[in-house]
Amino acid sequence: MADYDVIVIGAGCGGLSAASILASQGRKTLVLEQSDHVGGCCSTFEKEGYHFDVGASIVEEIQPTEIAFEMLGTKFQDEVDLIDVDPMMSFIYKDGSKVTYPLSVEGTAEVIAKMSPEDGEAFRRFSKYFEGFTEVLMKGFFVSPATSLSDMARLVFNTPALMKYLPLFAKTYQEVLTSYFKSEAVQRTMAYQSLYLGLPPELVSGLFALLPYSEHEGIWYPRGGMVQIPLAFQRCGEKFGMEVRLDTEVVQVLVRNKRAAGVLLGDGTEITADIVVSDINAIKLYLDMIPQDQLPWLARVGMKSYEYSKSVPMVYVGLDYEPPLEAHHSIIASSMEEVNDYWYNNAKKGRLPEKMFGLICWPTMSDPALAPEGHHALNLIPEGFYDLAGTDWDAEKQPFVERTIEDLDSYAIPGLKEHVTITDCATPMDFERRLLMPKGAIYDIQEDLTEQTIFRPSARSKSIKGLYLVGNSTHPGGGVPTVIASGIIASKLIDRYE
Ligand SMILES: Cc1cc2nc3c(=O)[nH]c(=O)nc-3n(C[C@H](O)[C@H](O)[C@H](O)COP(=O)(O)OP(=O)(O)OC[C@H]3O[C@@H](n4cnc5c(N)ncnc54)[C@H](O)[C@@H]3O)c2cc1C
Repeated sequence: MADYDVIVIGAGCGGLSAASILASQGRKTLVLEQSDHVGGCCSTFEKEGYHFDVGASIVEEIQPTEIAFEMLGTKFQDEVDLIDVDPMMSFIYKDGSKVTYPLSVEGTAEVIAKMSPEDGEAFRRFSKYFEGFTEVLMKGFFVSPATSLSDMARLVFNTPALMKYLPLFAKTYQEVLTSYFKSEAVQRTMAYQSLYLGLPPELVSGLFALLPYSEHEGIWYPRGGMVQIPLAFQRCGEKFGMEVRLDTEVVQVLVRNKRAAGVLLGDGTEITADIVVSDINAIKLYLDMIPQDQLPWLARVGMKSYEYSKSVPMVYVGLDYEPPLEAHHSIIASSMEEVNDYWYNNAKKGRLPEKMFGLICWPTMSDPALAPEGHHALNLIPEGFYDLAGTDWDAEKQPFVERTIEDLDSYAIPGLKEHVTITDCATPMDFERRLLMPKGAIYDIQEDLTEQTIFRPSARSKSIKGLYLVGNSTHPGGGVPTVIASGIIASKLIDRYE
């Protein structure tokens, strides 16, 4: 008899949501986490009284998370104190001026109308269209398995409203947005979001033009930091007997007769299980952690064909003043051309941009208790990438932090430089070392259409029986709500097949 029914590798939100649901179904479940904390990219650390989020900085699209907690017999809102985030986003222009969109669609339409009356009206139409699309996605797509063509056929059959949105497949993100919005100032508030997927506006599918709308459906920040979400899954799972072991690295998945049989730990210990669930990068799982003679050659070729997703550096800043920002999230307003240009001339060539380009998160606007009284914390997410031409992140880290602060001080956050009390930084190389994320890839695998749904590594392994995938690497891809959805999907598949 195996030591456990289920072993889950990795205590990210994907791993913990799957593990807690499986434990609630009566399966003896063990979660193994190589670091000293749960949550992976969705966690929070403390430094000199400031609390910084490691990666993810807000939650949106909470329906999958609500479903997951319902499966655990509780409510998301009862387990995590969610603070409403409003305004939704502030945009900072190069002259230091700011445009801030409230959460409400109507309020945003009015702000946009001041820049361009016709675009204000267009925003109402745009929101109506994407509200319908978001509803369709949330009801079926996000929490349904996509392991085969028949799954996809079932999904479309059960969600006929999806058909209405098929024309989006034929367009790019940029084409959809520029068909609605004509003013460059307005387009500057929507171009950058394509990089959430790791690609520029002219390469992202038109489906994702929903991004500048989706946050209007609601954004929340967990009181106490993002780590409260994985901690809630851990707490709920432990009530059903789920065990979590920290500082425990898995180095190999044991496979007997093409069936997962357990794991081998870094210290040489073997733990057996009937089912193994992986919450780690699928390329690494299949190519480094499974004996290659147990894998069909096609599976090896398939895995090698995947591209790693984007990576980013994070700069964490403690301040002894209130930064002159207008929202929990601010973006450096950028035109479609600037974002495309960044992709081709910086990211693709390994050249860091001269100016900070990206997202500013101000968690202490929502939860002041995350910093000492009168102080604030900022998490800066400048665009960056793993491979740098002629240098590496260990050499670039300190100058990069200084340049980022200097640049923001010059127009976006006046006074910043004088009020910095502490800084810290996690570069893509640090993410790789600390969370064992190859190339610091924040969604493991690229998020373009050819690497989505049935083209992404399957949640139920096609090569190894009893092996299931959750997290960034499998459908529906990267992001806190989506990896939690993957936990629900894995639990459904395990229920069906095991
Ligand atoms: C900078 C940044 C900003 C982001 N912003 C947002 C945001 O605002 N909103 C949003 O929704 N999403 C955001 N994301 C994405 C989101 O954080 C991730 O998609 C999600 O948290 C990934 O969860 P996961 O469970 O798939 O993996 P991870 O969080 O990566 O967890 C995997 C876990 O596995 C462990 N592990 C790895 N290898 C082993 C091994 N061999 N043995 C044992 N354990 C192992 C790791 O230590 C880690 O804890 C952001 C990500 C980053 C990095």
